[in-house]
Amino acid sequence: MRTILSGICLFIATIAFAQRECASPAYIDQLKSVDPSFTAKINEIENFVRRQKTARELEQAAPNVIVIPVVVHVLYKTPAQNISDEQIKSQIDALNRDFRRRNADTSNTPVRFKSLAADVQIEFALATADPKGRATTGIVRKATSVTRWNSDDKIKFSSQGGDDAWDSRYYLNFWVGDLGTLLGYSSQPGTAAEKDGVVINYTAFGTINVNAPYNLGRTATHEVGHWLGLRHIWGESYCGDDFVDDTPKQGNFTTGCPNTFRSSCGNGEMGDMYMNYMDFTNDACMNLFTNGQKQRMLSFFKESGARNLLLSSKGLNKPWLAESPVEMPVKTAFKFYPNPTSGELILDFEYNADWIGKSVSIVNINGTVVSKNQINSKMQQLNLSQLAPGMYFIQAENGMQKLRAKFIKL
Ligand SMILES: [Zn+2]
Repeated sequence: MRTILSGICLFIATIAFAQRECASPAYIDQLKSVDPSFTAKINEIENFVRRQKTARELEQAAPNVIVIPVVVHVLYKTPAQNISDEQIKSQIDALNRDFRRRNADTSNTPVRFKSLAADVQIEFALATADPKGRATTGIVRKATSVTRWNSDDKIKFSSQGGDDAWDSRYYLNFWVGDLGTLLGYSSQPGTAAEKDGVVINYTAFGTINVNAPYNLGRTATHEVGHWLGLRHIWGESYCGDDFVDDTPKQGNFTTGCPNTFRSSCGNGEMGDMYMNYMDFTNDACMNLFTNGQKQRMLSFFKESGARNLLLSSKGLNKPWLAESPVEMPVKTAFKFYPNPTSGELILDFEYNADWIGKSVSIVNINGTVVSKNQINSKMQQLNLSQLAPGMYFIQAENGMQKLRAKFIKL
């Protein structure tokens, strides 16, 4: 019975995520269809990438590690969608393992591909300073009334229930929310700044509280690959071009977790590289980026490249702006003096300047107003020398507060 039950559960899980769903190519096609200039921009960027390769500049480049400041916008309607800091950090860790080839499963990379596998030398860190220089955890949490997001970008705009991007020239923006069966989608270099970033389903973000088979943070590894200009390994069409030389041509995407040699498009003894992060296999069955993919990603960081400004981001600096404005001296209550008074009374409204413009009344013990004055200074001076000796009240009202205090006229 137990076997049957777990079999059913597995079946249901399989239906929920029948196949890795990455909407990035469809998303880019959509951007191209609404903005005719976008295609030209993408082509221009491709020419730039090609020039970088021709110059052999990349091979000679100093092997510095690039650290990208990250902000994670968490959009939630249910408590489960408000994922924990721990889950978010588990995703950053997973990205760093995969991009630095420090993942434990590098051993699963087939021998024939081992020499192609790359430490991409890119790392990720939650931002410490926001675009204005204030301290941040790099995590923005926002309740929303939106039940389900899709690849229409609403999640990227506060005006549509989402959350506005931080300046994407200087930060990698992640948006995390409920995407239904969609795992995620990404922009690519050249996308308009306000839409530039990666959207990931909360059920596939990080390695904690996530659903197998997308439970190793590799949806984000894959989508960040797109964000850094990588295409799917099969080149988005049958035996298509992924613009990378060392990845074998491949007929189509691969699902699940194959464990046998496969070949297509006449790729011969190299076979399909279905364990590449840019295929559609399960998280547990992907384990490499290639040197060619690395060079393509790094080329965008070259001078005037589409990701170049990230190198001058202040997002990982110490915050340089105080978190709140310098506090005013604390004035907790209305003061007046001297009491008793022989004639002159000072009313101190320093604690709340809203009183200026309102009127203040002096009321006798019978409730009769004997004097009325407009407050025109934070230190209002009243001349009460004409009042008969006795007990009086100061009364004022400013719409928010009522003020009543007792004093003695000598
Ligand atoms: Zn994809």
